[in-house]
Amino acid sequence: MAPAHLPTSRAAAAALDVHDPLASFRARFYLPEGVIYLDGNSLGPLPGAARQRLAQVVEAEWGEGLIRSWNAAGWIELPRRIGDKLARLIGAQPGEVIVADSTSINLFKVLAGALALRPGRRRIVSERDNFPTDLYMAQGLIELIGGGHELRLVEADEIGDAMDEDTAVVMLTHVNYRDGRMHDMAAVTRRAHACGALVIWDLAHSAGAVPVNLNGAQADFAVGCGYKYLNGGPGAPAFVFVARRHQADFRQPLAGWLGHAQPFAFETDYRPAEGIARALCGTPPILSLAALECGVDIALEAPMSAVRAKSLALTDLFIALVEQRCASHGLRLVTPREPDRRGSQVCFAHPNAFPIMQALIARGVIGDFRAPDILRFGFAPLFVRYVDAWDAAHILADVLDARAWDRPEFHRRAKVT
Ligand SMILES: *Cc1c(COP(=O)(O)O)cnc(C)c1O
Repeated sequence: MAPAHLPTSRAAAAALDVHDPLASFRARFYLPEGVIYLDGNSLGPLPGAARQRLAQVVEAEWGEGLIRSWNAAGWIELPRRIGDKLARLIGAQPGEVIVADSTSINLFKVLAGALALRPGRRRIVSERDNFPTDLYMAQGLIELIGGGHELRLVEADEIGDAMDEDTAVVMLTHVNYRDGRMHDMAAVTRRAHACGALVIWDLAHSAGAVPVNLNGAQADFAVGCGYKYLNGGPGAPAFVFVARRHQADFRQPLAGWLGHAQPFAFETDYRPAEGIARALCGTPPILSLAALECGVDIALEAPMSAVRAKSLALTDLFIALVEQRCASHGLRLVTPREPDRRGSQVCFAHPNAFPIMQALIARGVIGDFRAPDILRFGFAPLFVRYVDAWDAAHILADVLDARAWDRPEFHRRAKVT
C-alpha cells in the first residue's frame, strides 16, 4: 500500500512537479532527451554553467593568461575557495575544508593523520560493506606503517560494540553506496569519542544529497566526492575536512609542496602549512576545479530542507510504485523504509539485476548495477522529477513483465558497470 500522500496517477505526479519548490533547478543542467537519469549519485549531470565556465578558463585564463593566471585568475585560491563553499553544505566552518586529490587519497591522508593522533591504539573499526576503496586504502596504509594495526570489519549494527580502548579510529561511510542505509552521525561519533577514538566520515553519497552537520556531530575528519551529488564532472577533485581543533596537530604523510608553509620558498625541509592547507599535496587540477565550483554553487542555492523533503518524497514514491507494480517479480527492497535511515537512493536486490539494469538503460532509464545483485536508483532532487520516478517504475514493470532483460546483449558486461 502506498502511503496516503503519494500520487496515484501520472497526472498527480506531474502536479507535484508543478508545485515543487526545486523545480527550476532542473533547467540548470544539461539532460539528454529521452533519458531518465537516476545515476546522479554516481556521476552528476553537466551544469550549463560549467560548459561556459570551462570555455572561459580554457580560452581566456589558460590560453591568454598562461602562467599569470595562477595569480591573476585566482587559480591558486581555488582549493580553499571551493572548500569554504562546501563547508556551508556539510556543517563546517570556513578553513576546515579543502578540495584536493581523490576521495581515496584524502582518506589515506586523514586516516594516517588520525592514527598518529592515537599512538598506542592499534585498531581501525569499519563496516564490512563499506565502499571497497576505503577498506583498500586502510589495508595499504596499515601495511606501509608496519605498526601492527588491525582493520576490524563488522556489520553496521555491530559498530558500537566493536569500539573499545584499543580503537584508534572509526572509519565509516555515512550513506552506504550499495543499499542507501544512513548512519546516525552524531550518535556514532559520540560513542567513538566515549572510548577515546577518532571518527572519519566518508560523505561520498551525502554531500549535496542529505543534511550533514559535521561540527554539530563533533566529527573529527571527513572526506567526500565532487562528481556525485555535487555535479563536479567525471573525476572531479574530492574534499577533505579536518576539524579546527585537530588542525595544529594533524600531520599527513603525502607531504607535497603545496601543503608546505611556504611553497615558493623552495626549502629543503617540509614544514606543514597552517590550518587546512596542510592537507594539500601537489598542483591542483584547475579545469576540474572550475567545473566543480559550478556544481557546488548550484547546490548552495538549494535549501537543504527542500532537498531532503523532495528526496524522501521521490524515494517513497518509487518504493511504493515498484512494490505495487512489480510485486510478482521477486524484487527485494534493501534500502531502509525509515526516512531517518535512508539516503537519497533506492536499491532492490534481484538475481538478474545485471541484465535488468541493462534493459532499463536501453529504455532510457539510467541507474546502475552494483555487484552481486543490486539495482541502484539515485534520486538527485535538483533534477529528478516526480514524473521521472513514476515513469521509471512503470518502465521497470514493463521490462520485468515482458522479460525484456533476457537477451544475450543485456548479459554482456563492460569494463565499468
Ligand atoms: C564513490 C566513492 C568513493 C570514490 O573514491 P575515488 O577516490 O573518487 O575513486 C570513495 N568512497 C565512497 C564511499 C564512494 O561512494
